[in-house]
Amino acid sequence: MLISLSNLNRVKAHAKAAYPEECCGLLIGCYEEERGIRRNIVRYVAPCANRWFGDRTQGFEIPAYQRYDIEMTAKELGLSVVGAYHSHTLHGAFPSADDCDSMAIYQTMLIVAVKMGVVQEARAYCKDVNREIFEERIEFCF
Ligand SMILES: [Zn+2]
Repeated sequence: MLISLSNLNRVKAHAKAAYPEECCGLLIGCYEEERGIRRNIVRYVAPCANRWFGDRTQGFEIPAYQRYDIEMTAKELGLSVVGAYHSHTLHGAFPSADDCDSMAIYQTMLIVAVKMGVVQEARAYCKDVNREIFEERIEFCF
């Protein structure tokens, strides 16, 4: 996946601000395909409220109305939702079983690990058409 450093920094700042709760948001952009390999290109990050009813240090839920509004705005820009991001405050930047279940095919899941309020690392994952999850390389653009 391709993202600008400033957008990745926005995600990290959101993760830090939300700590000890998990933050969440959507990734807006488009994709390119080369020799059957699809790559998501993130143009905007849209921070969302974590409305999970459980312990928000261990989970997140993007409210449906917010997702809808963001999807509509993306569409007006000729873009679409290409993924989502959230933070982990107790575990590393690796997808949990729930994360794996919730991932949609071809969508990027960007996970930021925060430990003791300090952002540790960001990793991206994608689910392929065979429902297998692989780590995506994070590449930077301006
Ligand atoms: Zn997670």
